[in-house]
Amino acid sequence: MREDLEKRIQTLAEWLYDSRHSVVFTGAGISTESGLPDFRGPDGLWTRRDKGLSPRPMNRPWDSVEPNSGHLAIVSLQGMGKLAFLISQNVDNLHLKSGIRPDLLAELHGNITKLRCTRCGETMAKSSGLTTCKCGGRLVSSVVNFGEPLPERDLRLSFEHSRKCDLFTVVGSSLVVTPAADMPREALRSGAKLVIINQGETPFDPQAHLRFHEKIGDVLPRTIKRLKRLMGLFE
Ligand SMILES: [Zn+2]
Repeated sequence: MREDLEKRIQTLAEWLYDSRHSVVFTGAGISTESGLPDFRGPDGLWTRRDKGLSPRPMNRPWDSVEPNSGHLAIVSLQGMGKLAFLISQNVDNLHLKSGIRPDLLAELHGNITKLRCTRCGETMAKSSGLTTCKCGGRLVSSVVNFGEPLPERDLRLSFEHSRKCDLFTVVGSSLVVTPAADMPREALRSGAKLVIINQGETPFDPQAHLRFHEKIGDVLPRTIKRLKRLMGLFE
């Protein structure tokens, strides 16, 4: 099993090395390793969102939650030019906090630290204290509740990059919520390789070219090490 893991990590590193348009797709699983409450538990963010409820206030401030080795591995990909685009279902702001460029990121379900204008769609920091956008529109929480449309820019870019990519890596998502789950399908249709790093089952498991059931923190950092070696970069 252990040996097999090393082999799969090497394969992923090689595929990333060879990739020309690599897309990463993240879900709640990447953030549980940052100690966030269970997103799918009875009172989890996700469960509440699906019931149309807003996130329950956490017993510690959101800005005290730090990105983990999985988030940092994705930042390393960005630094090596191996991240064409990042699609996330998470609202926890940890990708931006870890240093992902906003123009390379789609936050399909919004961001807990941001407001969105109901008229023009512009987002801004909650900490700005503003209630009205420059355009005159009303600013509301950017977090998307059940039944609400997903942000147009984020959705459009996610589909564009899913169609364009040659490698689509799912990290910590069970791929059951649409339209998020449509994106790996688009990628496969375009001939991309599909990699899934998720502890639970996903409906795409039979189609995955490479599958990790291990913890993200046991896969991604080691993949980055090997990729750096392939690229001739040494730590
Ligand atoms: Zn506006």
